[in-house]
Amino acid sequence: MSFIGRLSWFFQQQWGKYALAIILMATVNILGIIPPKMIGNVIDQIRIGGLSAETLRNNVLLLVGLAVLIYIMVYIWVTTLFGNSILLEKLLRGRLLQHLTRMSPSFFQRNSTGELMALATNDVLAVSQTAGYGVMTLVNTLVGTAVVLITMVSLISYKLMLAALIPMPFLALVISVLGKKTRKHFIAAQTAFGKMNDQALESISGMRVIRSYVQEEQDIAAFDQVTKDVMNKNRKVAAVNALFHPSIALIVGLSYAIGIGYGAYMVFHNQISLGQLISFNIYLGMLIWPMIAFGEFINILQRGNASVDRLTKGFQQQADVQDAEMTITVEVPGQITMDRLSFRYPGAVHDSLRDISLQLGRGQTLGIVGRTGSGKSTLLKQLLRQYPVEPNRLFISQVPVEQIGLSQVRGWIGYVPQEHLLLSKSIRDNIALGLPEASEEAVWKAIEMASFTKDIDHLPDGLETIVGENGVMLSGGQKQRVSIARALMTDPEILILDDSLSAVDARTESAILANLRRERLGKTTFIATHRLSAVVHADWILVLDEGTIVEEGTHEQLMLLGGWYKEQFDRQQMEASLNGV
Ligand code: ATP
Ligand code: MG
Repeated sequence: MSFIGRLSWFFQQQWGKYALAIILMATVNILGIIPPKMIGNVIDQIRIGGLSAETLRNNVLLLVGLAVLIYIMVYIWVTTLFGNSILLEKLLRGRLLQHLTRMSPSFFQRNSTGELMALATNDVLAVSQTAGYGVMTLVNTLVGTAVVLITMVSLISYKLMLAALIPMPFLALVISVLGKKTRKHFIAAQTAFGKMNDQALESISGMRVIRSYVQEEQDIAAFDQVTKDVMNKNRKVAAVNALFHPSIALIVGLSYAIGIGYGAYMVFHNQISLGQLISFNIYLGMLIWPMIAFGEFINILQRGNASVDRLTKGFQQQADVQDAEMTITVEVPGQITMDRLSFRYPGAVHDSLRDISLQLGRGQTLGIVGRTGSGKSTLLKQLLRQYPVEPNRLFISQVPVEQIGLSQVRGWIGYVPQEHLLLSKSIRDNIALGLPEASEEAVWKAIEMASFTKDIDHLPDGLETIVGENGVMLSGGQKQRVSIARALMTDPEILILDDSLSAVDARTESAILANLRRERLGKTTFIATHRLSAVVHADWILVLDEGTIVEEGTHEQLMLLGGWYKEQFDRQQMEASLNGV
């Protein structure tokens, strides 16, 4: 069974608790057969007029004592068993998140956010339910049925038992048929629910765009459609569910009818006593729950199996960039070299980088410019090792980058991505993300370098202002500067700015760049930009087009060359002077 196999690590770890819960459950089932037998005995004694006050009192006391004992045992097994299943839920979620943090961008390209959310919520829940509720129903079915049947046969009459059980297979049949139907409708309802979630997410996050294009009515109508679908599918689930109880009651009623009818006949012919008949009918009632539990168990196990498979599939996906078997330690990153490096995104049909060669000494600044889509961000991402690199093409301190530990390389780099990602925490926590223990002074220094000091005064709670999901509270330029401050916090050996100054005005831009030149003396910096003024001071500038270097040199050399760079630079200067900046 894949369920137990795949979760064997957990069952092994928690076997003591499972053993305790199962033993207690079985004991409760066994103790449960005593009261009906006692009731039958008392009735028989009444019938023959032999019941003394003392026997009655003893019987009543015993019944009360038994009830208290069962109460305590049930409490213990329920808390133990379901405590375990809650623990499993927590462990699985932790593992999942840990796994996701190791994955590279291509993993998230293959698996949508919605799917991953479903894994972390629905699937984890289904698995933990199987490990709790599933175990409970299984034990109750096996032990409960066996105990009651053995008692019926040994203490009362096997003939009566067989007769009364004739309708019971129908009960199992009905439960299985209805169970299958429920599952089918349930899956449909869950899928519709997932779609509704996606739609809600999109409507809320895209609210501003929807409003500005006056699409509210259409959006509401579309959402209405989706919610209607969810409602209809849930109604179907409810309709099938509603059949459960009446069907069970009908079949159980038949069983009782046989039990009473045939039982009375047997009493009449002195084959069993009246007390036995009454005990028997109580036992019959005790069989219903294990029968239902069996149906439930099958249901739960199937759901649990499906989910554990999905989770395992998720866990089996490996990151496509991993540490080499033998990593070489490089103390400080010196020269960065690329030797005819080419790169193609997984699944793409064209190379996004072709034959890129460069050499950058420690402490130098490289500018990367070029038209949109020319490969600037792709080039910078090579250093971050988000995708596998061709071996022996990219070197840091003469060591091929694929042989240096991933965490070491990433630890050197402060990266300000083109699409700034802020967490919905305070500005302070966003900036100090890489160095949570940082002093207040260090945070302020990073803010100063990113020219963000003045903006803080205008924020409602200063440094402690919560920026909202993805920084909705901040302007584009503010977000960029928070991201820059975050990258500067760790005083990285290598700073990567991917178009990180596009949304700030020219004066702020030159202030930030001057700060960087002053404070980062001796450290390496990469700047990709559309605004050429940002790379004027760079030690070397690459001009990319369609993934290859078409011009390169210092600012002065490129101006003399008179190509794309000069043309673009002159145009931007003219625009700037026209705008009066
Ligand atoms: P911009 O100035 O707009 O930021 P860029 O120079 O940074 O552009 P890149 O983002 O490096 O350009 O993209 C270079 C090429 O790679 C483009 O043709 C783009 O379509 C492609 N590309 C980028 N990301 C992916 C991806 N994840 N999968 C496949 N192709 C990609
Ligand atoms: Mg880019």
